[in-house]
Amino acid sequence: MNKKEVRVRFAPSPTGHLHIGSLRTAIFNWLYARHECGKYLLRIEDTDRLRSTKEFETSQIESLKWFDLMSDEPIVHQLDNIEEHKKIAHELMKNGLAYPCFCKPKDAEQTVTELSSGIAHRYLGTCRDKKWTEQDLQKPHAIRIKIPEDIKEIIFDDLIRGRISVSTDQLDDFVLVRTDGTPTYNFSVVLDDISMEITHVIRGEDHISNTPKQIIIYDALKKEKPFFAHLPLILGEAGNKLSKRDADVSVEEYRKKGFLADALLNYLVRLGWSHGDQEIFSRDELVKLFTIESVGKKGAIFDVKKLLWLNGIYLRELNFDQMLKAIDDLGQDYKQGLLSNWGEDQLKKLFELYAQRAETILQLFEDIISLSESPKTLDLNLISKWSNEKTIDLLRSFVEKLESISSMEHEDLLNLAKEVCANFDLKLVKLAQPIRLALTGSICSPGVFDLISVLGKQETIKRINALIKDLNL
Ligand SMILES: [Zn+2]
Repeated sequence: MNKKEVRVRFAPSPTGHLHIGSLRTAIFNWLYARHECGKYLLRIEDTDRLRSTKEFETSQIESLKWFDLMSDEPIVHQLDNIEEHKKIAHELMKNGLAYPCFCKPKDAEQTVTELSSGIAHRYLGTCRDKKWTEQDLQKPHAIRIKIPEDIKEIIFDDLIRGRISVSTDQLDDFVLVRTDGTPTYNFSVVLDDISMEITHVIRGEDHISNTPKQIIIYDALKKEKPFFAHLPLILGEAGNKLSKRDADVSVEEYRKKGFLADALLNYLVRLGWSHGDQEIFSRDELVKLFTIESVGKKGAIFDVKKLLWLNGIYLRELNFDQMLKAIDDLGQDYKQGLLSNWGEDQLKKLFELYAQRAETILQLFEDIISLSESPKTLDLNLISKWSNEKTIDLLRSFVEKLESISSMEHEDLLNLAKEVCANFDLKLVKLAQPIRLALTGSICSPGVFDLISVLGKQETIKRINALIKDLNL
């Protein structure tokens, strides 16, 4: 018998920029679909008219595009389906599986204290056994599910957490369609998952409490239930739910700060999933190795330092075109800024030099753009630390020799500097550090002779002369 095609969905609400935890959910869905040669679909849950905006939807889709996580089929908008959802609620009502509730919301509920979640409101069942006619439906009413009395327990086997059972004592006849005519979240989710033929619902563990209600809806509709897998939360350092205090939570921020999509994807997959001690995975490897069963049950702590380390590794693997593309991803003007200050050959060399020291594309960009201008101010403390009475003569002698040579190769520049230092009976560092200061304004930079060969003779001499002038004051 043919195995049924796996179909999964990622279903964000466009009420903010894409959250880093939601992105991980999208990635796990995508990996599962690819691993199983199935379909990965995208559904925008835009029924919350007050909080959903087109701007956020566009922003979330842009973020998914950045990760190459777009839907295998046209994107579904939940809002397009709500008339259909209302119709189905009506049918359930006619079949006695749901009923109209004419109560005013507050009258119908009893406040109960729940062990797990504190205070909750529970419907008393006032309208459950009342007779009604189509005529009655002219009056404002909600539609409630009629949970069969013989069901005492809802049981499902979560692919990550194992068997979960919930007593129906904890549930009331919940609302499917509100008095204002809008279907509720759980009802729309189930109907859309059915019409999209979703086989596996992979989502964050904050949805566990929705699952029993959704199962009741599947049963009322006599539809086959999908498999459920609830992913553990991403946690902050103190074991709390990840918040802005721990790290950026919007994917958009990571792009702006110069993280690479592949590095972030690799990092997020490792938050909760593992394959031995391996840290670095290509997408192909992830697709091959990923299984839901190897996702852990426990929340994983978000470690910005580790993400930076991983990003640095990915950054150093980029070729020139990929580096330029990553800089372009930072936002408008970044790439142009570099190209208007540097020639292509210079940029290639600078990427190579600075990638060794950078952890993000933004750092790389800032280092290279700041090198394109002479240092604006020189740090007097650094100058006094790295200069003495001989420094001016030493620098002048170097400039003189530099003017007379034609090669700008690293080796030749190094020999030239050694020769100058030997004449003054000084170590190389006594010359190299002041030159570094003159060229970059700092004493941390790539190798000074590499920088000279990129900047070229005239620019180097100009910057060293500026330092000499400052030392003379
Ligand atoms: Zn009622």
